[in-house]
Amino acid sequence: MARIYLSPPHMGPDERALLLEAFDSNWIAPLGPHVDAFERELAAATGTAHCAALSSGTAGLHLGLILLGVEPGDEVFVSTLTFSATANAVRYVGATPVFVDADPTTWTMDPLLLEQALEQRARSGRLPKAVITVDLYGQCCDYERIGAACARFDVPMLQDAAEALGATHSDQPAGSQGVLGVLSFNGNKIITTSGGGALVSDRGDWIEHARFLSTQARDPFPHYEHSTVGYNYRLSNLLAAVGRGQLRHLDQRVAARRANFASYREGLGDLPGWSFMPEAPYGTASRWLTCALIDPARSGAPREAVRLALAAADIEARPVWKPMHLQPVFRDCLVFGGSVAERLFDFGLCLPSGSSMTGADRERVVSIVRSARADVA
Ligand SMILES: *Cc1c(COP(=O)(O)O)cnc(C)c1O
Repeated sequence: MARIYLSPPHMGPDERALLLEAFDSNWIAPLGPHVDAFERELAAATGTAHCAALSSGTAGLHLGLILLGVEPGDEVFVSTLTFSATANAVRYVGATPVFVDADPTTWTMDPLLLEQALEQRARSGRLPKAVITVDLYGQCCDYERIGAACARFDVPMLQDAAEALGATHSDQPAGSQGVLGVLSFNGNKIITTSGGGALVSDRGDWIEHARFLSTQARDPFPHYEHSTVGYNYRLSNLLAAVGRGQLRHLDQRVAARRANFASYREGLGDLPGWSFMPEAPYGTASRWLTCALIDPARSGAPREAVRLALAAADIEARPVWKPMHLQPVFRDCLVFGGSVAERLFDFGLCLPSGSSMTGADRERVVSIVRSARADVA
């Protein structure tokens, strides 16, 4: 039987045709007609006015922080429950991440805790230069409350929507809630270009500047003239062609991932000690990954036993992100709260969630999980 991966790429004939068209046109460069078109289509898909296509989501986070003027000595509030790229980007600009715990009802940044943290910092005159929110596993943060807290203290919000393309908040697409939004097209995301990312915003001047910085910051001269440090962060035209093919099917990809979730909940929801990542009432989650919480006191098999049983059956599952405040590399950073994210890490398991999964694949996962439990109990 074939290995079942956590979130493998899902390609179709459109991607292949567009890639070959790009190849045959000889636009084999980090610029070209597919890059321009992909940017227009991504802006439309995220409900934003402008987009810069980049080599990765991490590059988008880095450039986003530069655009917000974050510098050495500054602090940036970051959701602790995330992938390391979110916090690493803060280090790239020489600033210090300060972590904020998750809300147990959404798993995303706790809005009340954020507001209290900002209040405390306002009193001591040390507000962060920016807040990076993370739309975790395809679920938007509570932007009504987080946006209000940021607005109250005039701190800009950079939205890491790398996991949430296709999700919504109050009927608005994920990516449009922050002053800048970051997308990722890494191989495991809901749509992929093998590697790639984007920065979206309503601010045309910022996106224009992001394009300038991402192409080595070349000043307008016939020779190579530079007055700013530049980066090589542009997306290639070949990969943009693949991305355009992927984006055409985004709605079906979201539907497939939500169907995975529904079928896991149906097949595993009755197990004692099992629960699933809740869907917040303010939006529709893309369910990029289906995440379960397995309470070891009540379930026959704790998270690791389930994960190992799946691994033995050639099925890839992963623990929920290890919180940034527990990572050795960020050991010296402050954290507001932390126990919610710690519990989600201890008990959380991400199940195989690819949009190309078949019903038979899901049944295989469900049956291994159920038997793993029986073995141990
Ligand atoms: C994937 C991911 C990123 C990084 O995106 P890359 O394109 O791999 O650089 C950033 N933040 C989060 C939350 C992610 O899941």
